[in-house]
Amino acid sequence: MDTQTAEKTLDTLMGAWDGEEIIVRRDQPTGATIIIAVHSTRLGLACGGTRMKTYPALEEAVLDAQRLAEGMTFKFAAAGLQRGGGKAVIAIPAGLDAAARDDLLRRYGALIHQLGGIFACGADVGTTAHDMDTIAETGAPYVFGRTSERGGSGDPSPATATGVFSGIKTTCARLFGSDALAGRRVVVQGAGKVGYSLMGLLRDEGAEVTCGDVDAVIVERARTELGVSAMAADAVYDAECDIFSPCALGAILNSETIPRLRCRAVVGAANNQLATSADAELLRERDILYAPDFVVNSGGAIYLIGREVLGWSEQDTLDRVRNGVRDGLTQVYALADEHGMTTSAAAEQVARQRIAGGQG
Ligand code: NAD
Repeated sequence: MDTQTAEKTLDTLMGAWDGEEIIVRRDQPTGATIIIAVHSTRLGLACGGTRMKTYPALEEAVLDAQRLAEGMTFKFAAAGLQRGGGKAVIAIPAGLDAAARDDLLRRYGALIHQLGGIFACGADVGTTAHDMDTIAETGAPYVFGRTSERGGSGDPSPATATGVFSGIKTTCARLFGSDALAGRRVVVQGAGKVGYSLMGLLRDEGAEVTCGDVDAVIVERARTELGVSAMAADAVYDAECDIFSPCALGAILNSETIPRLRCRAVVGAANNQLATSADAELLRERDILYAPDFVVNSGGAIYLIGREVLGWSEQDTLDRVRNGVRDGLTQVYALADEHGMTTSAAAEQVARQRIAGGQG
């Protein structure tokens, strides 16, 4: 589903979406709106993160939930997991205080519990493992990624970074004939939970890492603790590099930013990086290899299901993340070559075939 889908009224958004269900609840005490989008339960219980932020309009929040839920459907299918795609968005008013926020999370947990198992949540932008503990007070057993003190497997972001790192190596092997990262220039957009962890892995392999983030405190921490370089947040699009790694928010690959890019490939964690499906073609025309986001950023989802449902060990899970992203991406690149299609279309084709066959 594109960000530019017609006029964004609730009516057109509902009509344009091919998902199964959208639950919208107004939280009267805070003025927040909870949106749970269940895109597909074809492969199993729908799972997805909880995004909590302030939106300019309710329609933007609904569109975000729809696009993110669809991405989760593809992500689980591409990763070979028997789970469906869903996402929760909690659109909050600016300046919500901590106590009110916790009460809101408990009411959100109660809503998930009330749904009785069509959707299970984890963390996403704006929520943490501690928030999952709070949500689980009322939402258990439909909550992933609680802290280890509360019996969960914690923040999955390092596993997501492990997968993105594997995606970068796989892409370098394809472009340069070697997956060695020494001297490779990587620009990371967003030094948050995933970006920060990713930069540590890249630096340890000798890559030249530069980050751009709108939060000056986070950038300074990355500079002093990791020893990476920094640039203005908006300069990341113009920076000459081998790999551009978007690890902030979605829709950042669009008709305005793609002409500015001076990288050989885009490989990052952010969900829904392409603003519209036409942007995959724009990247191809510029000879920039795009590693489809839902293949590259599946590490966190694999980690939570592997650790909390399938009983995999930590080491085994991380190995599966590395190998899964490498093999998934290799398959997508080969399919795109074979059929002369964009890598984005190839990844969707792989995922849709698995969904149609009922196999994650
Ligand atoms: P986060 O909130 O911890 O970090 C995001 C960072 O991006 C923050 O430091 C923020 O300041 C920065 N940022 C925001 N707007 C920016 C801009 N315009 N330019 C530069 N920086 C900007 O989030 P995260 O958990 O690290 O996730 C990052 C992205 O990866 C999100 O799109 C998320 O949906 C996706 N993702 C995360 C996981 C995970 O395990 N955390 C898994 C899959 C996908």
